[in-house]
Amino acid sequence: MDDFRRDSISLVFGGNYPHCHSVLIDDEVRAVIDAASDRQKLLAFKARGPVDALITSHAHEDHFLYNSLFPESGLWVHEADAPAFTSLRRFIDMFEPGDGEIALWEEYLTREAGYVPREVNRVLRDGDTLDFGGTLCRVVHTPGHTPGHCSFYFPRDRILYLADWDLVKSGPYYGDPASDLDQTISSLQRLKTIPADIYLTAHGKGVHEGDPEIIEHYLGSIEAREERLLEFLRKSPATLDRITDQGIIYGRAKSIGAWNMAVSERHMMHKHLVRLMRMGRVFREGDRYCAATPAA
Ligand SMILES: [Zn+2]
Ligand SMILES: [Zn+2]
Repeated sequence: MDDFRRDSISLVFGGNYPHCHSVLIDDEVRAVIDAASDRQKLLAFKARGPVDALITSHAHEDHFLYNSLFPESGLWVHEADAPAFTSLRRFIDMFEPGDGEIALWEEYLTREAGYVPREVNRVLRDGDTLDFGGTLCRVVHTPGHTPGHCSFYFPRDRILYLADWDLVKSGPYYGDPASDLDQTISSLQRLKTIPADIYLTAHGKGVHEGDPEIIEHYLGSIEAREERLLEFLRKSPATLDRITDQGIIYGRAKSIGAWNMAVSERHMMHKHLVRLMRMGRVFREGDRYCAATPAA
């Protein structure tokens, strides 16, 4: 019934947002990582025996959609994202919404994305070993997407669950106010060094060969975005609004649920501009960003 299985570890495919793929661990200690895939399959896993641990790789609704199906399981999340699980308002505040948007988000997250505030029973930190019986897992804190984003490494099975470092064609996402571009790059560089036969991801293909070149290629899309941004600025200086309108990352702005992609595009472009200014490749004149002419 599972879509991928090796020993006690399996992956259950989910659909598009607000779903993701889930990792199930069926050992002495039974666990679900990212309960947002297939509702029926998650319920079937629970019907076969108690689920001790409900692990969520990070505080995004497409990773906790079905957490409420597991009220008796202990919730394990990284300390940096933990407050978002205990209070809806603290979760929403991560997105720095305008006054008019708060009610919309509250409604969406409660009714459509299954948000139920709950206690965090175990706080995860980088390097923690999670002991499921025969199966051991190491927590790899890989921030950048969110401050508390974690990946999970199963050394015996040489499986690395990358979570939202999802290896999709469009490239990594660092479009929340609390996302960080430099951390994104260093997290991906770190993940490349972990020896694995198989990478599992929360979106897209889900199961990948454990080849660091695939992560390198994914990292390359960050550089490609930056090049497209510079190319645009070389034609003429532009404000952040105009840059956002170009849709360099996501194309024409669209909304998914309560989530407006133009807002993510804007945050990501701003993070690139800050990075390029630090490197001396872009400078600011009033509210416009200009490409620096390379020295002859
Ligand atoms: Zn995410
Ligand atoms: Zn996701």
